[in-house]
Amino acid sequence: MATTKATECVKVVVRCRPLSGAERAEQRRSIVAVDHNEHQVQVHPPTAGEETKTFTFDQVYDGESSQQDVYREAAKPIVDAVLDGYNGTIFAYGQTGCGKTYTMEGSDGNKGVIPNAFQHIFADIANGGAREYLVRASYLEIYNEDIRDLLAATSQHRLQLKESADRGVHVRGLMQFVVKDMAEISSILQVGQKNRSVGATLMNQESSRSHSIFSITVETATRSQSAPGAPIRVGKLNLVDLAGSERQSKTGATGDRLKEATKINLSLSALGNVISALVDPRSSHIPYRDSKLTRLLQDSLGGNTKTVMIAHVGPADYNFEETLSTLRYANRAK
Ligand code: ADP
Ligand code: MG
Repeated sequence: MATTKATECVKVVVRCRPLSGAERAEQRRSIVAVDHNEHQVQVHPPTAGEETKTFTFDQVYDGESSQQDVYREAAKPIVDAVLDGYNGTIFAYGQTGCGKTYTMEGSDGNKGVIPNAFQHIFADIANGGAREYLVRASYLEIYNEDIRDLLAATSQHRLQLKESADRGVHVRGLMQFVVKDMAEISSILQVGQKNRSVGATLMNQESSRSHSIFSITVETATRSQSAPGAPIRVGKLNLVDLAGSERQSKTGATGDRLKEATKINLSLSALGNVISALVDPRSSHIPYRDSKLTRLLQDSLGGNTKTVMIAHVGPADYNFEETLSTLRYANRAK
């Protein structure tokens, strides 16, 4: 398989949310500054005398940046590649409460990457008269290295990862829904979100500790080729809302909670290792098999695929350590 230079296929951007209402009420200081021209993030340590830390990324966003800015620059190129028949993945990484779900799903009136991606795909379908399309969606979560289907009626079921010659790595029995318009996608998102929180409550889990993967498969054929056996282009877009990256040792977790926490940290570091191996021209081995997350996304990371990591941080002084650790993780993925 021909591969494009990995550094062109993996992009890392950082988004810093605004101070929250509560943080402003507590008169928290913002210690994060974003330089749009230099694509830099500066962190001013809250302790006097410590040096400012500066990091450079492919793009940077602050509290003034809009959902549209993030979509247009960070996500749209990936969606375009998927429409051309390539696989692509968008990761939201960062500490809980820093805006991962806001970026991926959005909030009322501020559509995030998932709805914008669908709008873009359907607009492309409407404009591209000569083609036939099939758009399908699936939605799963990985909690504690178990895979659950967020669109199945009994989402408590654990699913198995399988590998086959024709399908590659896939989840056996995962539901896939054909989606024809924005209304259908909104209802799928809603079902998935409801299952996510209901399942989490039933099993006494916290959804900030699971990775969710919303996958959109787009099959296209030109009308003249739509006879049986004609070539079909298939692209797959994975939209991944990762588990919170906060270090769990600090939270004083014990027993099962600590075990969970260790698995989250392991899967996030496995992802970091895969991405840094992909961007390192000297690496000959990509450690996909070290976690369910990286195994599942194996066909969509590396090779002819496009990946963007959107790392999320908060601006407030009390998050200094976590912010720094997120920026270091993101910096390593470049
Ligand atoms: P996470 O998924 O990382 O735990 P959320 O997406 O739930 O974080 O964000 C936490 C809170 O901050 C939510 O109320 C969300 O609406 C708000 N928020 C996050 N990012 C932004 C932003 N860029 N602009 C405005 N509000 C934001
Ligand atoms: Mg979230």
